[in-house]
Amino acid sequence: MNKTVLGVDIGGTHMRLAMVDEQGRVLHHLKEKTLIQEGAGQTAERLRDECRAFIGQAAAEGSRVVAMGLGVAGKIDRIRGKVLFSPNLPALNGYPLATELQRELGIPVVLENDANAYGLGEHWARRGQGIANWIGLTLGTGVGGCLILEQRLWRGDDLGCVAEIGHMIVDPQGPRCACGARGCLEAHASARALWQSVGQAVARGELTAGPLFEHWQARALDAAAVYSCAQQGDELARRLFDRMGWALGLALANLFTVLGIRHAIIGGGVSAAWDLFIGPLRRSVEEHCMMMPVQNLLIQRSLLGDEAALLGAARLAWQQGG
Ligand SMILES: [Zn+2]
Repeated sequence: MNKTVLGVDIGGTHMRLAMVDEQGRVLHHLKEKTLIQEGAGQTAERLRDECRAFIGQAAAEGSRVVAMGLGVAGKIDRIRGKVLFSPNLPALNGYPLATELQRELGIPVVLENDANAYGLGEHWARRGQGIANWIGLTLGTGVGGCLILEQRLWRGDDLGCVAEIGHMIVDPQGPRCACGARGCLEAHASARALWQSVGQAVARGELTAGPLFEHWQARALDAAAVYSCAQQGDELARRLFDRMGWALGLALANLFTVLGIRHAIIGGGVSAAWDLFIGPLRRSVEEHCMMMPVQNLLIQRSLLGDEAALLGAARLAWQQGG
């Protein structure tokens, strides 16, 4: 009987689930809204039911699901299979998600931070292959980060959070972040930063008409809507992507200088706005990187789109249960 694993990525907005073979091929794939307002128990139940459906489908196709990898945005306890603190999924705080799923599904379930899962996925399957040292960033509801150093995922002292690049402070007087601090990279360069800034402009009376205002009014404002408004020339939307690029460039300039490495790979849903923020990002790196030869720095877009964290979670599952 063939073996397969499940890879799951739970983000602030969407939950993705995939059945993956040992070569990293996605055999089946599902994406749905996270609906975290339902609470941790409901989310876990829904996920369990989807996993059972995949396990049944695998059996019908003559294969067996041997393990599951789970990437979750936030601080996690890998050993206890527990989400400790998730600014973008607060309902999961303190919830033993992996332990519960392992008990109910009867297969090993390994938990990892979603940005680390992204790094493992890129390293296994795409851009990161063969690159010894690189900085990873994922732009979604929040901003995730990971470090691959000497071909390995950097885990620091295993304190539950590592390479939290999204929570590097780029402006101490800047906007409040979901983590509680002020001026984090995430408060400038995430989907939430985009829609919150639009809401604040409305509250200040600076945005009163036009497509961006209409999206906000219809409660249909997401990163893609801000992107399309920017492409159509909306000045506020363009400024928000300029600010995103500036903040990302500042954070990367610091990291390149501290680590003495030259590669960065940027993924996540909001990286679809690459054409709008990469110019300001490169200018910001040039402005802030004094000690490094800027022409040797390589900042690339992930080629895996939404799939990197899923594949990384699957990779962990193979290491655990394969
Ligand atoms: Zn923060």
